Amino acid sequence: MKKALYWFSNDLRLQDNRTLTTLLMQADKIAFVYVIDPRWFKPQNFHHKMVGNHRWRVICQSLLQLQYQLQQHGHQLTLVSGPAEQQIITLAREHEIDIIGHGEQVGVYEQQVWQTIIQALPQVECVSLWDSTLFASNQLNLTPDTLASFSKFRKLIEREPIAPHGPGKIHLDALPYPLTLVSEEEAQHAWTRLPNYGASQSEHSSLFQGGEMTAIAHLTQYFSSDAPQTYKQTRNALDGWQQSTKLSHFLSLGNVSARQVWQELKLYEEQYGANESTYWIGFELWWREYFQWLALQLDWRLFSFQGRAQQPPLTSYFAERFKKWCHGTTPYPLVNACMRELNSTGYMSNRGRQLVASCLVNEMGIDWRFGAAYFQQQLGDHDVAANWGNWQYIAGVGADPRGGRHFNLDKQTQMFDPEGHFIAKWQGDNTTLALDSVDAADWPRDDPQGSAKNRDCS
Ligand SMILES: Cc1cc2nc3c(=O)[nH]c(=O)nc-3n(C[C@H](O)[C@H](O)[C@H](O)COP(=O)(O)OP(=O)(O)OC[C@H]3O[C@@H](n4cnc5c(N)ncnc54)[C@H](O)[C@@H]3O)c2cc1C
Repeated sequence: MKKALYWFSNDLRLQDNRTLTTLLMQADKIAFVYVIDPRWFKPQNFHHKMVGNHRWRVICQSLLQLQYQLQQHGHQLTLVSGPAEQQIITLAREHEIDIIGHGEQVGVYEQQVWQTIIQALPQVECVSLWDSTLFASNQLNLTPDTLASFSKFRKLIEREPIAPHGPGKIHLDALPYPLTLVSEEEAQHAWTRLPNYGASQSEHSSLFQGGEMTAIAHLTQYFSSDAPQTYKQTRNALDGWQQSTKLSHFLSLGNVSARQVWQELKLYEEQYGANESTYWIGFELWWREYFQWLALQLDWRLFSFQGRAQQPPLTSYFAERFKKWCHGTTPYPLVNACMRELNSTGYMSNRGRQLVASCLVNEMGIDWRFGAAYFQQQLGDHDVAANWGNWQYIAGVGADPRGGRHFNLDKQTQMFDPEGHFIAKWQGDNTTLALDSVDAADWPRDDPQGSAKNRDCS
């Protein structure tokens, strides 16, 4: 009788989950667990939380859907709270677990937690498969050189066949027997402590809902619409639900796999024809892919101030400026509008993210890591590889061969919000320019990084 424990993390789905499939094939009895780690909610990451309200909302929605799906098949999702390594080790010992499954993580901190568990449980078989990308690790011959820039990486993968979607189908009707870890009372109590985010919180956040069933419905809806036909023209827009795929939070929660998205894209192309726009959706998935592999390669260096640059950036920390950036009260209306959208919804368009990141680094002279940490707290779609990798890129310490990006905010406003609708929607021009602190003496800056870095991107 083999007893298994499956520990969910950023793979909050039942379908196309290879670690889960592997475990189900071996187990006679199985328990499904999710660990809520109190460290996530402490402001320890450059004074910010690892998991903020928007992220927590979509996680809770995903957990509720998983619980519903498992209950349909006589199983439960057990919620436990505490440091993940302690909780999993205790459960495994108390219940004499033979095999533990846990999707392989891109985050170096999460990898350490998993290693601690493996070392503490030498008798237990630990299964962890890499499932976060389109390609399997043995498909690509990745070297520091192929990851030196996105272009190099793209040239490599354009020649590779993408891993087919299967065999990700899990036969839920043939699950192993349930293994009970906690009493019914304890199990229920844990669920009652979870905030019920089933109902929407606000007009804006209601658009972003987590959960595997919601993700599949969204994927189907998006690829049944005309939106993919015009993605290339609309993807840079600051506003609008159908202007881009809005798949990021589902992908970051693991509600769908990148392979599932890719498969839907290919089916769409077969049915309606491929064009520049459909190519570009795939192209963005390759960006995602790139940052995932890069993060694995960089490990802790993903969080390093200097990154890959020859010299550290000429930025620092200025408390008041940073606060204004976070709250959307800088002298830059477009930046304010984007930040207010982020704070209110947990989402910001890709162009918005580029602009506010560029502003933080170049106009405000602030250390990029504070911006990345604030994004981590505020984004509903936070993904450690995409977020920290993109921030390094814009700050000029990452994978950008051009050495960083500096966007001209006036020009960007003319291009993307010529009528001022977006700024008005989020009251971006409602700024306070009370520059009465020490910080403000030299701010806003005219030439923050010197002409070499002061490039004008469009
Ligand atoms: C400073 C900064 C921070 C970012 N932080 C995150 C983050 O924490 N999580 C996250 O998922 N994306 C992040 N991005 C990338 C991108 O902005 C979002 O993925 C995108 O805006 C989400 O909207 P969408 O799903 O409609 O994207 P679409 O334009 O429809 O793209 C399709 C998918 O491709 C992927 N993708 C697109 N652009 C990128 C990119 N530049 N890098 C990596 N993947 C990409 C996403 O998974 C996205 O869902 C960041 C970008 C910047 C500039």
